[in-house]
Amino acid sequence: MEPAAEPPLALPVEDHRPANPQSQRAEETRRELVEQHGGSAETEEAVRRALDWLARHQERDGHWASREYDQRCGACAGPARVNVDVAVTGLALLTFLATDNTHERPGPFRDTVARAIDWLVARQDRRGAMIEAESMYSHGIATIALAESYGMTADPRLEEPVRRAAAFIIDSRNREVGGWRYAPRQVGDTSVMGWQIMALMSAQKAGVDVDPAGLAAGRDWLELVRSSRSFGTYAYQPGREVTPAMTAEAMFVRQLLGAAPDDDLQRASAAYLLSHPPGRGDEDGNSYYWYYATFALFQHQGEAWAQWNERVREILVERQQTTGRAAGSWDPYDRWAAIGGRVYQTAISTLTLEVYYRYLPSFAVAENGRAAPATIVPRE
Ligand SMILES: [Zn+2]
Repeated sequence: MEPAAEPPLALPVEDHRPANPQSQRAEETRRELVEQHGGSAETEEAVRRALDWLARHQERDGHWASREYDQRCGACAGPARVNVDVAVTGLALLTFLATDNTHERPGPFRDTVARAIDWLVARQDRRGAMIEAESMYSHGIATIALAESYGMTADPRLEEPVRRAAAFIIDSRNREVGGWRYAPRQVGDTSVMGWQIMALMSAQKAGVDVDPAGLAAGRDWLELVRSSRSFGTYAYQPGREVTPAMTAEAMFVRQLLGAAPDDDLQRASAAYLLSHPPGRGDEDGNSYYWYYATFALFQHQGEAWAQWNERVREILVERQQTTGRAAGSWDPYDRWAAIGGRVYQTAISTLTLEVYYRYLPSFAVAENGRAAPATIVPRE
């Protein structure tokens, strides 16, 4: 049955939808940003090849399979050990969004993106969780992807799923000490926490109201895992040894929570990351570390960014497969790849190479140099 027509005297409803917070991803601007921030024709060609591989390995129902992603193709070896389809679908979707491929804008990947969004939304349960048999990692990643999709298109169909997903994150924080872990409300870890804070920030940038208690739970956690001996370094959990990966993630989260680039902790974290440059050995070949260090140092800018960028982009471009049907993917090469497989390795490497335009360097900090998000976090 058709709905009744609008009463003829109704006032037009004012549209309060926020402008696209990721408008810099549009092709023209993207090209300028690549040039301005240290990308190259090679990095962009690597991204193009990666999107092509990912699109060819998407399942018909819209998801990416972490384990059985290659059944139709049969040419890209190396299945993963566990099923983290929600997580890898979120990461893969983010690679397309970063290059301004949305479910509304006409383009070669419009259908790819639309099906991925539909699949993720269909995973959401009554609690607002997109977790299935996976962990809060998956929920956080899926929330970032839906929040970016919503922010970039203002598609009203996505507002409620994003709002509920963000509310689930806030409800899942640990009440005693802060942070998040694999299961809702467990005592946290720095790694899972970072994805939740990014998800809350992405929801907020898309115009969804986010309870400040969520961001405060991230801030509380960072104080617990900050080293008292080595300034500006961070651990996975309190009392454990500091690591480059956790320091990179903590540095990025602090930027999201409003730390200024010239803050002493940020400078110390940047120096520590530069003393652990990306390398080709097992120890230094950690794609998860590279991802967070790349985004943190990009926000940090300056000489630290220039040095890091030169190295990471060279290694990533060099490692990508360029021939045959696996062209565009990255062989699973680190310990995280054993969990997420070739789809994970390809998506995280692609996102790292999309750093030049995925967020502006002012993503975390307002143009006047003052810490923008701090205004919404209550000071205790
Ligand atoms: Zn394949």
